[in-house]
Amino acid sequence: MTATGERSTAPAERSLLAAVRSATGLDPSHCYQCGKCSAGCPMADEMDLKTHEIIRLLQLDRRERLLSSQAIWLCLTCETCTARCPNEFDPAATIDALREIVLAESASKVPRPMAAFHGAFLDQIRAHGRVFEFGLVASYKLRGGALFADVAAAPGMLLRGKLSLMPERIAGVADIRRIFERCQTAREPK
Ligand code: SF4
Ligand code: SF4
Repeated sequence: MTATGERSTAPAERSLLAAVRSATGLDPSHCYQCGKCSAGCPMADEMDLKTHEIIRLLQLDRRERLLSSQAIWLCLTCETCTARCPNEFDPAATIDALREIVLAESASKVPRPMAAFHGAFLDQIRAHGRVFEFGLVASYKLRGGALFADVAAAPGMLLRGKLSLMPERIAGVADIRRIFERCQTAREPK
């Protein structure tokens, strides 16, 4: 039994570790569990697994636990953990690889609120080249099905200038849309 309460796994389950090694060129077995990454993570209080626990579970090849974790979707990719690691490991790239693996297996495995937020964020970038907060919130609520949750906060945010009712569009929005089109083309089956 480990600090994360996990038992070691059978050899047949040991494919996630290999997939992450292949995707990142990193070897999670080099992590010595000092916890310095988690101590600096701005999302640590929100995550069901701390950063060092993610790496530990990866060392143990705990596929089910890791790929069902909300933590990998809450990570901001701020790279604070990577900058703090005294061992020159890269937890941020590792978590990004875990997300890619989930998406490659099945987009339906992404928790609904996370998929709704990521989709809403990309909608805004595609439309305006930057985030339009009011549109982001509206799109998130439509996608997530919680249309009227937190709606009472909107007037106060509008009064304090935290939300604008009109979007601002960057000059190079056509270039941004071309990037989206190329990504879409690259994802389509040949
Ligand atoms: S800071 Fe580096 S060595 Fe320490 S637990 Fe995090 S990833 Fe592992
Ligand atoms: S990259 Fe993710 S895991 Fe690392 S410190 Fe930032 S939010 Fe935390």
